[in-house]
Amino acid sequence: MTFQDLNLNRPLYSALEDLGIIEPTTIQHKVFSPIMAGKDVVGIAQTGTGKTYAYLLPTLKLWKFSNSPSPQILIIVPTRELVAQVVEEVEKLTKYMTFQVVGVYGGTNIRTQKIAVSGGADVVVGTPGRLGDLMKDGVLKTKKINRLIIDEVDEMLNLGFRTQLREIIEFLPRRRQHLMFSATMTEEVEAVIHEFTLLFEKIEAAPSGAPLENIEQYAYEVPNFNSKANLLEILFRDHPEMSKVLVFASTKKMADVLYERLLPNFEEVMGLIHSSKSQNNRFDTVGKFDDGTYRFLIATDIIARGLDVSEVTHIINFDLPDVAEKYIHRIGRTGRAEKKGVAISFVSETEEAYKKEIEELMSLEIPVLSNPADLVLSDELIDLEKPVEFIPFNHHKIKTAKPTGKAFHEKKEKNKKTNNKIRRAEKMHLKYGKPQTRGQKKKKR
Ligand code: AMP
Repeated sequence: MTFQDLNLNRPLYSALEDLGIIEPTTIQHKVFSPIMAGKDVVGIAQTGTGKTYAYLLPTLKLWKFSNSPSPQILIIVPTRELVAQVVEEVEKLTKYMTFQVVGVYGGTNIRTQKIAVSGGADVVVGTPGRLGDLMKDGVLKTKKINRLIIDEVDEMLNLGFRTQLREIIEFLPRRRQHLMFSATMTEEVEAVIHEFTLLFEKIEAAPSGAPLENIEQYAYEVPNFNSKANLLEILFRDHPEMSKVLVFASTKKMADVLYERLLPNFEEVMGLIHSSKSQNNRFDTVGKFDDGTYRFLIATDIIARGLDVSEVTHIINFDLPDVAEKYIHRIGRTGRAEKKGVAISFVSETEEAYKKEIEELMSLEIPVLSNPADLVLSDELIDLEKPVEFIPFNHHKIKTAKPTGKAFHEKKEKNKKTNNKIRRAEKMHLKYGKPQTRGQKKKKR
């Protein structure tokens, strides 16, 4: 099948020609007709198999020129890096059209984005928080939006984003087409999709969670942070073919600690990215990784989704994600557009359970390699690995046991006083002796 079979238009053909893209991928041709027919579509396809163009090509073919500054198309994605990427893809495809795309995301000046949106846009691409703010402000006019695209839909409808998404939906016209895409899907998310649309066509180019065959996957069994860091250094030392490597750590703190640890030997060739870095720094870091300045990039899952950096040779899971779907997205940063890729996971004993879940999701076992002969296994744990002491949330309200034995501090002067007050009964006792009973009194009479 060629793009001619899809009956696109001249400007789109010319743009694809410039990009050197000749044949549609499976997901691209599978979703094309249903989208053109106006159906709501949930598209599932492996990472890096052209999902962005799968929704952009029919959407841009359906788009009609209008003098109105209000957008007709809204694209929602989970991260700022993805906004920038999708904006670029739209720009490439609309090179021969009079078409305006605007990207909006948090962490940067909202005023500049307000000016851009007010200036008019045919499509707005954004992260949910900033889109919601612009809609509430009335800057982003929604009445003309007739196509809502949610990329990485399972992430977008996960608990973290769900409320924001519902708020955005409230602003949109009722008559609209929904296009939702991801490489993974869960039953829970599918149920939430029903809130948005009751009738949708689920189109799978591959079953949810299927890994790409062109990604080789291996694991090493390594007990802890220090041993894993030693292994990483050995791999970088012995494997020059590891030339563009994404190293995933599960938390920001872990990513920071790993970066510090590798700094003495790799400062020049290593980058670090996570959500606490400034937006400029994040874009700069991805750019340096993309252009080869950095040989490897230590990252959290913030860039696990959708990011299309060309020719990433290896993915290293320094630690395994606690959700199996995240693994699919992480390793999907390599092996893109039919290139080969390698994914290596460092698995400690406690992560064995995560590995099993991942293997179940993929219906595939990850072979374990024997550790390099010169790998030094450490038994020293870093602070992040030590069990945390449980401190109850309302600990200040909990009465602690009174210290026994010697006072643990000197009493204040006012507290040293003893109670010298004498009760009235005691006073009478001292004055008149032991009180008599009524019977004793009667006898006396
Ligand atoms: P995506 O899955 O949308 O992130 O796309 C992955 C990569 O495949 C991007 O670099 C696209 O430019 C490229 N791509 C998209 N569609 C095609 C196609 N039909 N043929 C070849 N490459 C493509």
